[in-house]
Amino acid sequence: MPGGSSSNDNVRVVVRCRPLNSKETGQGFKPVVKMDEMRGTVQVTNPNAPSGEPPKSFTFDTVFAPGAKQTDVYNQTARPIVDAVIEGYNGTIFAYGQTGTGKTFTMEGVRSQPELRGIIPNSFAHIFGHIAKEQENVRFLVRVSYLEIYNEEVKDLLGKDQHSRLEVKERPDVGVYVKDLSAFVVNNADDMDRIMTLGNKNRSVGATNMNEQSSRSHAIFTITLERSDMGLDKEQHVRVGKLHMVDLAGSERQTKTGASGQRLKEATKINLSLSTLGNVISSLVDGKSTHIPYRNSKLTRLLQDSLGGNAKTVMCANIGPAEYNYDETISTLRYANRAKNIKNKAKINEDPKDALLREFQKEIEELKKQISESGEGLDDDEGSGSEESGEEEEGEGGEKKKRRGKKSKRKLSPEKMAAMQKKIDEEKKALEEKKDMEQEDRNMVEKELQRRESELHKAQEDQKILNEKLNAIQKKLIVGGVDLLAKSEEQERLLEQSALEMKERVAKQETMRKMMEEKEQERLDIEEKYSSLQDEAHGKTKKLKKVWTMLMQAKSEVADMQAEHQREMEALLENVRELSRELRLSMLIIDSFIPQEFQEMIEQYVHWNEDIGEWQLKCVAYTGNNMRKQTPVADKDKNLAYGEADLSNVYLTYNLEGGGMKYKPSQGKSGRPKTSSGRPKTAKKKQASMASSIDALLQ
Ligand code: ADP
Ligand code: MG
Repeated sequence: MPGGSSSNDNVRVVVRCRPLNSKETGQGFKPVVKMDEMRGTVQVTNPNAPSGEPPKSFTFDTVFAPGAKQTDVYNQTARPIVDAVIEGYNGTIFAYGQTGTGKTFTMEGVRSQPELRGIIPNSFAHIFGHIAKEQENVRFLVRVSYLEIYNEEVKDLLGKDQHSRLEVKERPDVGVYVKDLSAFVVNNADDMDRIMTLGNKNRSVGATNMNEQSSRSHAIFTITLERSDMGLDKEQHVRVGKLHMVDLAGSERQTKTGASGQRLKEATKINLSLSTLGNVISSLVDGKSTHIPYRNSKLTRLLQDSLGGNAKTVMCANIGPAEYNYDETISTLRYANRAKNIKNKAKINEDPKDALLREFQKEIEELKKQISESGEGLDDDEGSGSEESGEEEEGEGGEKKKRRGKKSKRKLSPEKMAAMQKKIDEEKKALEEKKDMEQEDRNMVEKELQRRESELHKAQEDQKILNEKLNAIQKKLIVGGVDLLAKSEEQERLLEQSALEMKERVAKQETMRKMMEEKEQERLDIEEKYSSLQDEAHGKTKKLKKVWTMLMQAKSEVADMQAEHQREMEALLENVRELSRELRLSMLIIDSFIPQEFQEMIEQYVHWNEDIGEWQLKCVAYTGNNMRKQTPVADKDKNLAYGEADLSNVYLTYNLEGGGMKYKPSQGKSGRPKTSSGRPKTAKKKQASMASSIDALLQ
């Protein structure tokens, strides 16, 4: 297995143009976009350009004309990424673009129609199709999550409580993650499809206008694929690949004109994730930035690995063909053009600490062991159980059992247990038929039989519970080579067939492209050989025309850039204005409610936590109203390092007159808090820090 790769193909950008829709053709709109699939170019004509201005041209890894089939888009865009994820790489597939250009069509498509299914449902068929072809000693564990970022809040689309909002956290060992995000274990493509339907339902709930909500929110569908293979060292090795499939919010700027209050705030926040995404891309490619602003938004935090990190990423930029989309189309193409230059370092994630598969395998081993031991000590000995031996063992039965258990580590199969039951039944019957027995003896034997029976039942019950547990876990793991495709089989075949066709087509296109290029070159060469002065003049005019075109292109490029810059500047200024307003409000609240000297004190005791992106107050658990929650302990003040007052049941307020807090022991009016370093930090660390925070409050 390759350890890692940082080649350019870790980040690819493709462009897809949707067809003109019936409304657009009905209104007579002309397409202004020309897609050349063979050359990988997109040409856009400015409908308002002065005549003579040439169309703008962009080149990408792959471009899809309006007629492109969903399966082709899948095979050329997603297939290599999904294949890599199955190998243990991280992968991300983004759809970027203006609202209404086909992001959702590309990512999800029309799921009820096999040929119109988008990347996400096709990946289901692909993944399980692949697993079905794997070796049978490979185990897979597949989980899915589905979340939405709206208004800088993370919502679990598969969560029970659709009102709760989740936190984005970070840990050094696992990186950035969403706390408490649900993850469902799935066994086949149909499971995945059902889960997607469930999540989509939750996406629309609560939105006054479904389309509005989806155009303003980012949806991330994540498949986590763990696999365990037998390595050359004969050990099981776990690899984990994470596949994020992202349907981004519409790239058009949320207009703030006319919006006020909540709506204005929303617009600012909705823009935040997307503009941060843009800033992240820009800083990644400019080569000079040392700081990449991942932390500035939820989206970029969650997708940190996808951009500039450990992942194979493809971005599909979606554009509309109509003239009225011109500005947004150009803006999207520029954005995509920039993203081409991002470099990722992707590597296979081998034996990660948090692999669930390994835990499951351990649990399975443990359960199997328990099951094999669960019947130990049961009386199934051929000799035992006869009437004679039944009576002598009252006292030392336990001991004897133990010995027997150790001696024969036998596994009690269900068949064996059934046989034991049968034997007990037979003995019962024999006992009934035995007429010549003393009542006392009979009771004794009966009791012994009952004991054996109930022990057996208990063992059976135990084994049943263990077996159920085992089955539940085993069901989650998928064995390689087992055909799980069921209904999605058809889909997989569809995909594979079009993948084959595509290969042939690409090869053909490649030769044609080469031929065309050669012809072009020849033509240029011929043009260079002037046979007469007139020809030369003609040739030079032609050349001049060419250079002129280039000049015009460059000029319009400059104008475009300036306009874009202007727009961006305005947006930034608006953000600054918004932020300063918020800042003033905070300042007003602070100045009105917190005395100046306490402000200084607080400032001295807060620090910025880079991991969670928040300001934190040291020892906040021991301050203010937090102290009220504690129930006072009788001799508590004896334990306090700063033992003059037990503040646990006191409501603390600012009290300027005394220069400090209510219930404060006299401290003078210095107003400056002591720093905790002034206190010896030897024993009872916790108490010392508690004392220092109280100290701080008391000054
Ligand atoms: P977005 O998610 O970017 O807002 P949608 O995916 O919802 O856009 O697409 C808008 C409309 O255009 C939908 O009705 C969709 O079916 C249609 N559409 C988008 N792309 C295509 C395409 N390539 N072929 C046919 N119809 C498309
Ligand atoms: Mg959409």
